[in-house]
Amino acid sequence: MSAAENSALSHENSAQRLAAVWHRIDQAQAASGRHAGSVKLLAVSKTFPIEAVDTVAACGQNAFGENYAQEGIDKASARPNLEWHFIGPIQSNKTRGIAEHFDWVHTIDRLKIAERLSAQRPAVLPPLQVCVQVNVSGENSKSGCAADEAQALCQTIAQLPNLQLRGLMAIPEATEDTATQRRQFAKLHELQTQINRQGFALDTLSMGMSDDLEAAISEGATLVRVGSAIFGKRTYTNTPASTEL
Ligand SMILES: *Cc1c(COP(=O)(O)O)cnc(C)c1O
Repeated sequence: MSAAENSALSHENSAQRLAAVWHRIDQAQAASGRHAGSVKLLAVSKTFPIEAVDTVAACGQNAFGENYAQEGIDKASARPNLEWHFIGPIQSNKTRGIAEHFDWVHTIDRLKIAERLSAQRPAVLPPLQVCVQVNVSGENSKSGCAADEAQALCQTIAQLPNLQLRGLMAIPEATEDTATQRRQFAKLHELQTQINRQGFALDTLSMGMSDDLEAAISEGATLVRVGSAIFGKRTYTNTPASTEL
């Protein structure tokens, strides 16, 4: 197959996969009586090359998510016209590059990281849009603050000048049991409601991935983070042994 044919084929595949994901999102919205357009799709491009991002972007997808700081910074600098979301664990020595190249960060789980991101956000850029990551499953291995720490963290983040607090994010325990999936997502939604009752205006619930986006949408997700259902199976990971995913 020629390179041109190959590229046309991959465009067609990506367009089909993206359409299938949108179909699932639309169905889930409708099934729970939510308005069309109430869920944003983040295409998680971690481990895939920039050409794959270009192919998916050419199908109309604008927002992309990355887990690994250097890989994400490289892609975001190469395609500054796209919207970039950081969704991986954050080490404090990586905050500067993230603050300089990303539009959103979903994985703030401690104050120190929030303070560094705010201090390092370049003045010429709009505030970094951020979510607090909450550990809703209580597993030791997962990152995220404890549910009962989330409000205090929100309170402090709201004072930081170069961050705009948008909502909560969770990566629940992976399970095929829909009831368990829904219970974990409901917990995050409940927490958002509680925090908003204290005078906050969190408008984002970042939850749901390729395998559980229906459950997440039925429990109020406003942003789903979808990787393999759009890009295909990841064939390698550069995940440090100490972090999940
Ligand atoms: C990898 C990843 C995703 C996407 O996972 P898929 O199962 O491929 O859809 C979503 N969110 C986070 C935080 C991830 O690390």
